[in-house]
Amino acid sequence: MKFTAEHEALRKTVRDFVEKEINPHCDEWEEAGEFPIHDIFKKLGNLGLLGIQKPEEYGGMGLDYSYNLVAAEELGTAHCGGVPLAIGVQTDMCTPAISRFGSDELKRTFLAPAIAGDMVGCIGVSEVAAGSDVAGMKTTAKQDGDDYVINGSKMWITNSPKADFICLLANTSDDKPHKNKSLIVVPMNTPGISFSPHLNKLGMRSSETAQIFFDDVRVPQRYRIGAEGTGS
Ligand SMILES: Cc1cc2nc3c(=O)[nH]c(=O)nc-3n(C[C@H](O)[C@H](O)[C@H](O)COP(=O)(O)OP(=O)(O)OC[C@H]3O[C@@H](n4cnc5c(N)ncnc54)[C@H](O)[C@@H]3O)c2cc1C
Repeated sequence: MKFTAEHEALRKTVRDFVEKEINPHCDEWEEAGEFPIHDIFKKLGNLGLLGIQKPEEYGGMGLDYSYNLVAAEELGTAHCGGVPLAIGVQTDMCTPAISRFGSDELKRTFLAPAIAGDMVGCIGVSEVAAGSDVAGMKTTAKQDGDDYVINGSKMWITNSPKADFICLLANTSDDKPHKNKSLIVVPMNTPGISFSPHLNKLGMRSSETAQIFFDDVRVPQRYRIGAEGTGS
């Protein structure tokens, strides 16, 4: 495909952002094992860069994936991997399912603020004994009245220590492993959520990573994305 003038304008915007807002701080943030994620995300949100492919109705630019690709290429010029990783989790891992299959309430409550840079999100799939083998995950969300009660843990969760919500994969029935999984959006200030200390990584250090524990965490069933059993 041929890039248009619009692709090149977006490329320049992202490159300028990387050079001005990320690269001067990379060494310090990699050393510290964190970066000011809410500040950086708000600046990205103000430029529209957290919603390139997201619907305009919720604050996105409504562009096709080729524009995301251009932005990702330019983020790759950052002098560290951790900050682009954190941004990628926000734009391409924890929000696409909400955007495609979430209710209007989920989109207004979580997607629009994530696009604006007012909320940081994370994605919870991996577990201690379920990395490549996602089917082996053990975290459950059991129906109780209008709520789910969630128990279990998630490992290696990027952005989680400072996240405002998690897009969580949980077993919502005892059916076969490929039929019993649902994605549920859980606000991170819900009682019953706790964290391991930050995981001290060799690389990608500026992105914060932790294990999350869920102990009788209660969320409304309407925070599920799409129908039950369609999370896998
Ligand atoms: C920095 C970092 C950030 C992460 N962030 C997140 C996050 O935000 N959210 C999240 O949910 N997860 C996250 N993860 C977890 C990541 O997705 C898992 O590490 C990944 O799924 C692999 O799982 P594992 O580490 O348990 O390795 P394993 O599944 O134990 O695999 C170990 C090795 O065995 C190989 N292997 C596995 N199964 C087979 C097979 N059947 N045949 C042949 N080879 C096989 C793998 O390729 C790999 O080389 C993160 C991980 C890292 C390192």
